[in-house]
Amino acid sequence: MTAPIIQIRDVSKTYDVGLPALAGLSLEVRAGEALAVLGPSGSGKSTLLNLVAGLDRPSEGGVTVDGVRLDGMTEAGLARYRRERVGMVFQFFNLLDDLTVEDNVLLPAQLAGLPRTQAWERARELLERLGIDRHARAHPGRLSGGERQRVAVARALMNRPPLLLADEPTGALDSASAADVRDLLAGLSRDGQSIVLVTHDTALARSCATRTIELVDGVIARDSEVPGAVPAGATGTVTGIGEARAAVR
Ligand code: ADP
Repeated sequence: MTAPIIQIRDVSKTYDVGLPALAGLSLEVRAGEALAVLGPSGSGKSTLLNLVAGLDRPSEGGVTVDGVRLDGMTEAGLARYRRERVGMVFQFFNLLDDLTVEDNVLLPAQLAGLPRTQAWERARELLERLGIDRHARAHPGRLSGGERQRVAVARALMNRPPLLLADEPTGALDSASAADVRDLLAGLSRDGQSIVLVTHDTALARSCATRTIELVDGVIARDSEVPGAVPAGATGTVTGIGEARAAVR
């Protein structure tokens, strides 16, 4: 039995006004699962992702990720958790346009204090594995949306996070780039990366997720394994990063 990567117990989140964004939600995610969080706008998806990312705290209940209890942690503790244990990919990439692709990818390693040579090797390896090494010295603004999202994924994987979080990663992409990023994330999922992604892209959920949950009014209304999902550990073929896990971890 694999240890859970995420354990959420009876979590509620209320803001100053309005109904609870999350209302007594419990969820366990196993290591190697790729969980797609679906649901209508306002159902609590971003709130859930923010709690797992350590960007916010629950009003009640417990959140444990990779054995680390997040609720009640200090800001400094949460910042360290975010640096060391999660990689995040956003809809609008959140890359620094003043830095080169390479420097964007190196940034998390620098913040974590990884020795320079080691960081360089890791960045090179990721850029190559994700097929963007020829753009290493370019600035992100010159790249296509799909390439920029690849850079964002490389940056997210830099510190070998046990958990990759993605918030609408195909939401701002044209259809060809979206397909490219779907393939990339599906490859990572096949290679056993634990992933939680919030998405409206049903094709992404189908190709990448091993499990989907649907939130309605801050609770889980549906929880299902994806039929035919490739089990974690199988070799990816589409993206050319099938072997990446050995290097990525
Ligand atoms: P989703 O990501 O599914 O669209 P959210 O998690 O963003 O849903 O929001 C869930 C509910 O919490 C909504 O009613 C939203 O208005 C409310 N909410 C989210 N963030 C805040 C906030 N910072 N302050 C007040 N209410 C918020």
